Amino acid sequence: MAEKYYVGFDMGGTKMLAAVLDTEYTECASEKMRTPVGAGNKEMLKAIAGLVQQALDTAKVDLKQIAAIGIAVPGPIDRDKGLVIDLPNAGMHDYHLRDELESRLGARVVLENDVNAGTYGEFTSGAAKGKRNVIGVFPGTGIGGGIIIDGALYRGHSGRAGEIGHMIVEAGGRRCGCGKYGCLEAVCSRTAIAKDLVHLALNGQAPTILDKAGTDIAKMKSGVIKKAMDAGEKAVIEVVERAAWYLGVGLGSCIDIFDPDLVVIGGGLVEKLGRAYLDPIERSMRAHTMAAPDTKLVEAKLGDDSVVIGAAVLAAKELD
Ligand SMILES: [Zn+2]
Repeated sequence: MAEKYYVGFDMGGTKMLAAVLDTEYTECASEKMRTPVGAGNKEMLKAIAGLVQQALDTAKVDLKQIAAIGIAVPGPIDRDKGLVIDLPNAGMHDYHLRDELESRLGARVVLENDVNAGTYGEFTSGAAKGKRNVIGVFPGTGIGGGIIIDGALYRGHSGRAGEIGHMIVEAGGRRCGCGKYGCLEAVCSRTAIAKDLVHLALNGQAPTILDKAGTDIAKMKSGVIKKAMDAGEKAVIEVVERAAWYLGVGLGSCIDIFDPDLVVIGGGLVEKLGRAYLDPIERSMRAHTMAAPDTKLVEAKLGDDSVVIGAAVLAAKELD
């Protein structure tokens, strides 16, 4: 029997990534494409299968050598049933993606939450390599979280564990997309920051934001926020530091509950803003913890690769 391999797949909201890994979990090849927006169940299946095949061709690996495929999904899933419940951007609803993909490719498939996969990737090969207890947090459009306890991903009773972004840090505060009020995500995601920046742009306190993004929240990407901070726009810096402070409030509680070796933080805001964002988070995190003042906050290392690596390794461990 020829050597075996694994595939990790990230069904991102804007782009999809497929990677082939060997048994040492080293990436042999990867391919990416734009996510076909609104494609629907069947077209998405075709696109996913096609991109997997493309990555295999690049790696010169045959489908028969694939022992497991891990698919990371950025939306609600039923892992046991292999069901994607809702992915509005891709137009995928109530779809048995695992079974459909297995019969199309003839290889075993496991579905995984994308942030769990990202956290696990950093734990396997990235910033948390060699640790046992890890909290992963990824502030972006929303705020995703993942929890690793004693070297295993913690899934909880119904498989939904790790939703750090929906921890309430400002009871009765802003309404969150989940329906609650004052979640971390509602208070300090990039979307929350952008909502504040709209006001600043309109009242003349954020000229760089107004120039680069107007008052369009969707255009207020991390890179634009960085430009405004670099230009010394005080009100923008205050908004970002306030968001960082709240994130630290939430992470401080996580530390007291889980006493982790490490908190890994990734995503666009961290990648673009760096220390200007991390330092206030870390200060606040320490100010809001009692149990473990030496717990480190470290930046994720793998970027986009964390999700594909984590998805592949989690699938490998489940099916091998
Ligand atoms: Zn929420």
